Amino acid sequence: MGNYAIGIDLGGTNLKAGLVDRNGNIHHRLSIRTDNNADPQTISNQIFELIDKIINVGAGLKPAPTNIIGVGLGSPGLIDKKGETILVSPNLPLWRNIPIKRMVAERFGVPCVLENDANAAAWGEKWVGAGREADSLVMLTLGTGIGGGIVINNKLWRGVNNVAAEIGHMVIQMDGPKCSCGNYGCIEAYASATAMVRRFKELLRSGVVSSLRDAGDVTAKMINDAALQQGDRASLDIIKETGQYLGVALVNIMHILNPEVIVLTGGMIGSGDLLMDPIKQVIKEKAFDASAKETKIVFSQLGNDAGIIGAAGCLLKELEISV
Ligand SMILES: [Zn+2]
Repeated sequence: MGNYAIGIDLGGTNLKAGLVDRNGNIHHRLSIRTDNNADPQTISNQIFELIDKIINVGAGLKPAPTNIIGVGLGSPGLIDKKGETILVSPNLPLWRNIPIKRMVAERFGVPCVLENDANAAAWGEKWVGAGREADSLVMLTLGTGIGGGIVINNKLWRGVNNVAAEIGHMVIQMDGPKCSCGNYGCIEAYASATAMVRRFKELLRSGVVSSLRDAGDVTAKMINDAALQQGDRASLDIIKETGQYLGVALVNIMHILNPEVIVLTGGMIGSGDLLMDPIKQVIKEKAFDASAKETKIVFSQLGNDAGIIGAAGCLLKELEISV
């Protein structure tokens, strides 16, 4: 049995891989850019190439892995019920119906586990990150969209056919703005980075004064910087409102699952307390007292590494090694 698992995090912009030990430490990492419109053959070849390179690096480590334990692969999009095939992936439109688990296992002669990327990241935080003391955890990834992962009783909750934890599509307003999923009023349509920028632009159009008024194509990071560095009122207000929307979503989650920990991750957490304070305020006002007192709301500890570490951790969990 080897000492290391390979964790892979397949994203719309980057394909990242890491050599991860049994304690969740990354010993080496590689990353290459992915082309969103690449065909499946190109992407799978890139995955194979990264695994090859990581195995070569691993051979030089002490203790050197006699064998790599296996490969954990986190992928965006929908995965079939058996966890073997990527059915469809929104950010990689040509990447559909790919039996990547079998392809990796056959090529390298090691076990492979395929997991949704948000689930993998949630497992990483549960294994060695912000939720390592907890038996139950919910994670929200706050980026261009809002992803989610749920751990209950030390196991990922995948649902009856592997599509659970779509937290971003929790409706908080029946006739709210249209979401990328086609529905209206999802939390993603209010509190993702994309949605926050949209609301900010609406605020500017209403005549509100801001240092970003003539800044051109405003991004979530620019709003965050203007709030933190210049105390820009409009930016502070929009981040606060984003936190309030997220607070409503978290209250819903707490009422349904009563988890020990809710972990927030993704680019949006760069706002720190500006985002966290209104979240906690809404929870204090709207959640049941018992739940509000017990559930911890925290930021991610693994950051961008959660996907790699979690994918490797999912493999170790599947093989019943440590974790
Ligand atoms: Zn939606």
